[in-house]
Amino acid sequence: MKVLVLNSGSSTVKYQLIDTANGEPVIKGLVDKVGSIGATHTYSYNGEKKTEDVLARDHREAIGLVIKLIKDLGFEIDAVGHRVVHGGYKFFESVLINNEVIEYIREFGKLAPLHNPPNLTGILACREVLGDIPQVAVFDTAFHQTIPMENYLYAIPMKFYETYRVRRYGFHGTSHKYVMEKTAKELGLDLSKTNMITCHLGNGASIAAIKEGKSFDTSMGFTPLEGLIMGTRSGDIDVGAVLYIMDKEGMTTSDMDRLLNKESGILGITGISNDMRIVEEGYFKGDERMILALKMYCNRIRKYIGAYFFELRKVDAIVFTGGVGENSPIVRKLVLDGLEESVGIIIDDKKNEETIRGKFGVVSTPESKVKVVVTPTNEELAIAIETERVVKDYLKS
Ligand code: ADP
Repeated sequence: MKVLVLNSGSSTVKYQLIDTANGEPVIKGLVDKVGSIGATHTYSYNGEKKTEDVLARDHREAIGLVIKLIKDLGFEIDAVGHRVVHGGYKFFESVLINNEVIEYIREFGKLAPLHNPPNLTGILACREVLGDIPQVAVFDTAFHQTIPMENYLYAIPMKFYETYRVRRYGFHGTSHKYVMEKTAKELGLDLSKTNMITCHLGNGASIAAIKEGKSFDTSMGFTPLEGLIMGTRSGDIDVGAVLYIMDKEGMTTSDMDRLLNKESGILGITGISNDMRIVEEGYFKGDERMILALKMYCNRIRKYIGAYFFELRKVDAIVFTGGVGENSPIVRKLVLDGLEESVGIIIDDKKNEETIRGKFGVVSTPESKVKVVVTPTNEELAIAIETERVVKDYLKS
C-alpha cells in the first residue's frame, strides 16, 4: 500500500509517500512558508533533491501541489496517515477519520492550540483534494491513554480535571510504541510480559515506563513542557519559581510560555545552542558551561529512569532513541554509568561507541541484568504502518 504520511504544522507541510511493502519512502519533502510569499517545496525522489519556489497561499494549495507531484511521478495514493498531536481523553489508538473524529480533533485544539489546528487544516485540505481516499489520524497521545489515573492526575483540586480535563497526557507516543515493538521483536521478547523504559531524546524529549507492553507512566504532561531537559524547553521546574520570575519581570503568560518553551533547556543553560552536537564538542574541549549543560541534561534522564525502575519493579530493557539517543554514546554513558554493582547495568563501551547513525544495537554486556538498547525510531514509517492496519481493518469489517 502507498501511504502518504502528512505532518501539517502552522506554516509547513512535511510528507513522505511510503510503500508499506518495504517500508521505504518513495518521495519525501517539505513545503515551507505556507501562507506567505516565498514558499518553497523541497523534495527528494530517486536519490535527487530539488527545491522549487511555489505558490502555497494556504494548506490546501500546499497539499494540492504535493499530490500533483506524486501523480505526475506516476504514483497513486491508497491512504493518507496524519500525525495529530492531541487525541485528548478520547483516542486510545489510531482511527479512520470521519466527521465525528474531526469534531474531536477540533475540540482538543483547546489542549494543543499550536498543533491540532494546523493538523486539522491538513486533514480538511486532503479531504478536499483527495475526495474519498481513506484518511487515518495517528495521535501522539494515544499510546499513553493506558496510563492509570494515579499516574496521570496532578495533585490539584479535582474540579480542574473534571471541568477542563487538566491531567498528564504524554506525547511522542507513536515513537515510544514503535521502538517498544521493534525492540521486543529484535530481542525476541513477548511484549505482554515485558517491561521497558524508553527514552526518546530528540529536540523534544520524553521518557516512558512501559509495563507489559502498555504505557504506564511518562515524563511529558498536560503539555510537552514537563519532564526532561530539552533543546529549548526547561522540563520540570518549580511552578513557584515561574510565578516569582513573572512577578519580578512583569511578564504575561505568553511571555513565560515563550521563555519556558523556546528559550530554556540546553539553549537556556549554554546561551549558545540547543544542538547536542555543539554541547558535546564543548564538553570534550573542557568548556565549563557545556559540561554543566550535559551533566544537567543526563542527570534529569537518570532521575526519571531511577523513578521508573522503582515504579515498574522489574525492567527488561532500557531503550534509547531520537537524534540524541541514537547518536550520542556520551549521553548514554553518563546516564547509566556506575550502576554495575547496585543495579547490575553494565555498558559495553566499545558497542556503545559503535552504535550510532541509525544502527540498532544492544550496548550492554551479556552479563548486564538489564539490556540497554539503541533502537532508531521512524515516526513516519510507524504512521504508515498504523494507517495500513486501520484501513485494512475497516475494509474487513
Ligand atoms: P526532532 O525531535 O526534531 O525530531 P531529532 O530526533 O532529529 O529531532 O533530534 C535532534 C537532536 O539530535 C538535535 O539536538 C541534534 O543535536 C541531535 N543530534 C543529531 N545528531 C547528533 C550527533 N551525532 N550527536 C549528538 N546529537 C546529535
